[in-house]
Amino acid sequence: KEDRTGNGSFRVFEPAMRAKLKQRREMELDLKAALDSEEFELYYQPFVDIVDKRVSGFEALLRWRHPQKGMISPGDFIPLAEEAGVIERLGIWCLETACTEASTWPQSMTISVNLSPMQFKSPTLLADIDRALAKSGLAASRLQIEVTESLFLDESDRVLDILREMRRRGLTVSMDDFGTGYSSLGYLSRFSFNKLKIDQSFVRDLERAENIAIVRAVIGLSKSLKMQVLAEGIETEGQMRRLLAEGCREMQGYFFSTPQPKEELPRVIADITKRWMNDLDVPEASL
Ligand code: C2E
Ligand code: MG
Ligand code: MG
Ligand code: MG
Repeated sequence: KEDRTGNGSFRVFEPAMRAKLKQRREMELDLKAALDSEEFELYYQPFVDIVDKRVSGFEALLRWRHPQKGMISPGDFIPLAEEAGVIERLGIWCLETACTEASTWPQSMTISVNLSPMQFKSPTLLADIDRALAKSGLAASRLQIEVTESLFLDESDRVLDILREMRRRGLTVSMDDFGTGYSSLGYLSRFSFNKLKIDQSFVRDLERAENIAIVRAVIGLSKSLKMQVLAEGIETEGQMRRLLAEGCREMQGYFFSTPQPKEELPRVIADITKRWMNDLDVPEASL
């Protein structure tokens, strides 16, 4: 191949690029077929309310069991699904599957579903949610929606209208990975979220003064704006106790349970309750 860049980089770069693009196109084709061949599965990770000492709900986390490549995590295929134009169908499948599963759980437990910003471009998103609720018989108050700050990158009234409609229906709307996106905080004054989820990157190293300061600020913000707050990525008892002392009562993370298939949920609930919830001292004053 001729070297058009004059420095040799074209020659080396192109075959590698081409291979990558080819792989990508194959994955997109695989994705399109995957829904019909039932290769997707939802795993569920518990939210734990430390004060009430109970599992308050589960987050649905999508998995793709690829026939050749094995289990693929959402970080690797959601962007592709958005590009390939299958995110809308996939999103509807998640909503319906999650609501149907949650309708078999105790009434006190909620189900949280992640929505991609691209799903908000669909004119049928609200109708899709209504249908998932109607089909499953799940009460709207038991469905939580998780969005990320990237939803607010293009300031649109449409997005705010849809979020308000969700709340009007009684859904819980949560801001996921709070503090890691690129948007300003302005959206918090235009829409009142029910819940902020503190990103796991701030929870990971609580020995760092910076992270404690951020966690404290987010908890303070959530209290003054009357939002619930949940800490993600709790992996140790130390982190759990520290967050509790800071005034955060709802938590999620490997310390309680990794995401599990639905068959495992009764065991997950029993384990969490039995393991330590009963003899955990909750300092009332801290909350
Ligand atoms: P997320 O919604 O912030 O979910 C939390 C991620 O952190 C999950 O990764 C979960 O398995 C992982 N995690 C939970 N606890 C811990 C912990 O203690 N330590 C560590 N290191 N990790 C923990 P997962 O399942 O790979 O999902 C990644 C992201 O993919 C999710 O982040 C969410 O943004 C997206 N996603 C997952 N399912 C869906 C879906 O159905 N639809 C859409 N649009 N996005 C989804
Ligand atoms: Mg989430
Ligand atoms: Mg998150
Ligand atoms: Mg995340």
